[in-house]
Amino acid sequence: MLLNEVDFQVYVESTAQFLRLFALHVRLFMDYVSASATFQLIRNLSFFYVAYYLVSHSWRELCARGLIGSVNDLYQYLARSFFRLLMLVPQIKSKVSNELSSAMAQMEAEMTDLGPTVTRHLELPEHGQSSEDVLNEMRQLSLLKHSAWEDGKVSGAVYHGGEEILRLQTEAYGMYTVANQLHPDVFPAVRKMDAEVVSMVLRLFNAPETGVGCSTSGGTESLLMTCLSAKMKAYRERGVTEPEIIAPVTIHAGFDKAAYYFGIKLRHAKLDPKTYQVDLKSVRRLINSNTVLIAGSAPNFPHGIIDDIDGLSKIALKYKIPLHVDACLGSFVVPYLERVYAADPDPAVSKIPRFDFRVPGVTSISCDTHKYGFAPKGSSVILYRDSTYRKNQYFLATQWSGGIYASPTLAGSRPGALMAGCWATMMHVGDDGYYASAKSIVATARRIKEAIRTEIPEIYVIGEPLSSVVSFSSEQLNIYALADALSSKGWHLSALQNPPALHIACTRLTTAGADNELIKCLKDSVATVKAAGKAKAKGDTAALYGVAGSVSTRGLVDELAVGFLDILYKA
Ligand SMILES: *Cc1c(COP(=O)(O)O)cnc(C)c1O
Repeated sequence: MLLNEVDFQVYVESTAQFLRLFALHVRLFMDYVSASATFQLIRNLSFFYVAYYLVSHSWRELCARGLIGSVNDLYQYLARSFFRLLMLVPQIKSKVSNELSSAMAQMEAEMTDLGPTVTRHLELPEHGQSSEDVLNEMRQLSLLKHSAWEDGKVSGAVYHGGEEILRLQTEAYGMYTVANQLHPDVFPAVRKMDAEVVSMVLRLFNAPETGVGCSTSGGTESLLMTCLSAKMKAYRERGVTEPEIIAPVTIHAGFDKAAYYFGIKLRHAKLDPKTYQVDLKSVRRLINSNTVLIAGSAPNFPHGIIDDIDGLSKIALKYKIPLHVDACLGSFVVPYLERVYAADPDPAVSKIPRFDFRVPGVTSISCDTHKYGFAPKGSSVILYRDSTYRKNQYFLATQWSGGIYASPTLAGSRPGALMAGCWATMMHVGDDGYYASAKSIVATARRIKEAIRTEIPEIYVIGEPLSSVVSFSSEQLNIYALADALSSKGWHLSALQNPPALHIACTRLTTAGADNELIKCLKDSVATVKAAGKAKAKGDTAALYGVAGSVSTRGLVDELAVGFLDILYKA
């Protein structure tokens, strides 16, 4: 049916009338509702909630970071955002991405170009090869050019306990290759060894009778477990839903990983500028009702400094917060420090600070059996003062259609062979063996520390390291250029930042004369860097940390790091 002109007029008018009426009713309804007390109450409550949320969060940040810290945070944030925006300018973007891809190509070539003699296997061989052929190829591959760890020229990295231990471990592996701790009924021997390893480490750290623990795949997993346990305990006991952990800036990055994985906020405490231990005032300032854990290291990775655990313990007890001590690196060296220094006193060291369960506030300790315990890689232990802490790291799925499932740590199936290797090592080395190795490792670190202090005035030792790590920096030289000079002589020390420094984690391999060689190389390299004067340092370390250290280019380091991880899986 077609509408004639009059009908159309009527149609438009009646529609408009309807809409006017509808609008009027909506307005009447809104007036009615907003006049009602309930609505006003809800509106006011929402307003106060949002205001409370904003004010309390801002206040917490302000208390935690202080006025100067907060202003600095804001500046860093704005600067980074500004440079991120700058990257959107096409000319700048293309220049940066050219430089990035050339850096990436160089990195890829260095890591994956193994020369023409190496065959790449990108798919399964059509027919299985004989054991002999496989082993021959693996023997060839072990000869690929690599950093000279065998001569002790690498910081940390290889914590092996000697040829004899390696043979023992290989045999232990062979005996338990198929074992899996997930099935204690099938492998009762491995369950026994596992429990005994934990018990031995508990004793080493003076745990009380109530002490318990778990073995894990490495230090990072031990840290993940203690953070998870703290988060869950605070949630279950106090209803904390926005958990926070306080740890010094020198705490291992495993804590950042735990925070990332488990949705925890990690608040970094400052260091005392003289001792490089955690600044207790800074810790106290960061505490609030969401704090679920405080942590310190014995010693920390960057500087090898043992934090003031006694001081942290007082705070932890006062505020009833669990306290974790990261002794992953200290492992089987720090428990012997008192004996080592008693046998060979150092006039500069009056007292070895306590860090284990004898300190009353300490509730958990992580210790890497695969570092100075000399166990095969993939082995660490997390210890707790009592089972209430451990219980909170457990995972249960009791209604799973696959059956009642319960697992103590991250992994499901666990390599029993590794545990057998760890147990065999600890039984073989024993208390006297670990004491002897601690003694020689500490003596080596002390020689390096004293040589730097007395013979190389251009660089200075950071703090007063007592254990196996010595870190050093310089006010006169570009420390990263020094790293590159050392690297050209085959030495691979760890580069540190904030502040720029280098460190060596001494191992058994460093003790075998490599320390004297290092001291000599350090002197030569200092001379080389000095001779180069103010010219811009061109080495890889200097370039990378130059990029990382500048606000304008910091964002690029993320891309380089992602590129690095991608290259790991270029077959
Ligand atoms: C090595 C280390 C860890 C753990 O590292 P993993 O590589 O996961 O074993 C944790 N804390 C410190 C201080 C360390 O040196």
